[in-house]
Amino acid sequence: MLRFARTLLIVSLNTNLLLCGAIAQEPKALPLPDERYKADLLLVVAHPDDEGAATPYLARALDEHKRIAVVYGTRGSSGANEAGAEQAAALGAIREIEARNALTTLGIANVWFLPGKDTASQNVLQSLANWDHGECLEQLVRIIRLTRPEVILTFLPGTFIGEDHGDHQASGVLATEAFDLAGDSVAFPEQLAGPMRRLEPYLENLKPWQPKKIYYFADAEREDIFRGKGPEYSVKEISKSAKQPYWRMALDSFRAHQTQAKSFLDKIAQMDEAQIEKMATSDSGWSDAQHFVLGKSLVGGNMAGDIFEGIKSGAIPFTRSEVSADPARPELSVELDGPWSFYAEFRRAHGLANLPHPEPPEIALQAPGTLVIPLCVRNRTAKKQEITFSATLPAGWVAQSGTGKFTVAAKQVAATRVEVTLPMLAENEAKNTKPQEIAVHAESDGQSIGEIKLRVALRKRALPQ
Ligand SMILES: [Zn+2]
Repeated sequence: MLRFARTLLIVSLNTNLLLCGAIAQEPKALPLPDERYKADLLLVVAHPDDEGAATPYLARALDEHKRIAVVYGTRGSSGANEAGAEQAAALGAIREIEARNALTTLGIANVWFLPGKDTASQNVLQSLANWDHGECLEQLVRIIRLTRPEVILTFLPGTFIGEDHGDHQASGVLATEAFDLAGDSVAFPEQLAGPMRRLEPYLENLKPWQPKKIYYFADAEREDIFRGKGPEYSVKEISKSAKQPYWRMALDSFRAHQTQAKSFLDKIAQMDEAQIEKMATSDSGWSDAQHFVLGKSLVGGNMAGDIFEGIKSGAIPFTRSEVSADPARPELSVELDGPWSFYAEFRRAHGLANLPHPEPPEIALQAPGTLVIPLCVRNRTAKKQEITFSATLPAGWVAQSGTGKFTVAAKQVAATRVEVTLPMLAENEAKNTKPQEIAVHAESDGQSIGEIKLRVALRKRALPQ
């Protein structure tokens, strides 16, 4: 029996050898990823002209022979058109070309657009919904696997007093999610599978790719909380290749954006070099140093060190993001809801516990108008709880609804909101008021169960909340 089994084994080994011999031929190299699309740095932004937040740094990185690719979340189709009559999708089609031209001026040709829809609000959740979050994320993961960037640079995911565009935030949210997913072989696995036979034309044959670092820039007004959290680059240094300061190269690149800034660009076109320099080096913002915030690095390096510090070429293993523990909460608690609670969870879920965010949270709103304070009440006790909400507001601000008594059933989480009517800004008042602190207090059985603070600034104009 034993001898028979051995004979069988020898026969089967021989058969294998024969089979191998039958297909042995000249070794053929397997196709490799296309090097023309490999990027050292991938910039992820929301609208055509957002690249302007980074163009002086991009010009510097190009001087250092870095390969750069850019992704826009939208075509910027919902703004006003300063250059012509075209609106909406037609305007988006023009702005796509303007963005491509702006980047070509710098020497960047690999540019992609996601199908997000330009959404004018400060609410990142609104933008993500209107962009079709899942579809855009899938496409961004594909572009990361295709371009294999060492570093991702994007808007800081958070809410601030500043431009605070929900689309800018959405691009930072997507870039962070894609940073954590592109290296994961079970995320969008159909992108990684290769076709084995005819009629499998949908399998993409990409490889997982784990980017090494992610950096952010914020469009917040205050800068104090971001200083020292990442590198700083002067824009006044002279480019080795262009023999011009980096701010000047950024301005030349910006000239493509006629639909967004024709009146400004016409003015520039009338200026001589000395006048342009005077304009740029006054307080116009063109000559401010660029600050970035290190989100995370999987290759070490100093927080304020160069963006490419510690980066060596080649793939690194996929790293699953470390989720920090749920914050401890009392049995009965109240918290800010909406985008604010989303970001608290987002930072925990993506290993960004140290990402700067204003405390108390802040927002700028158009006045007159309404401030909505979304609240979440958690009742983990075994009985129904009656909560009383009250608000402390500056003179002239009126709690219009949501204060008073509110009941939460046992073991329930309930959402509510306090709405505050904001006063008209006086004619002689500055366009922007200083932020004022407001508070919503929550009490149960005569005991405080929480106080929500917000810093709120009033503006003549602001994006809707
Ligand atoms: Zn923008």
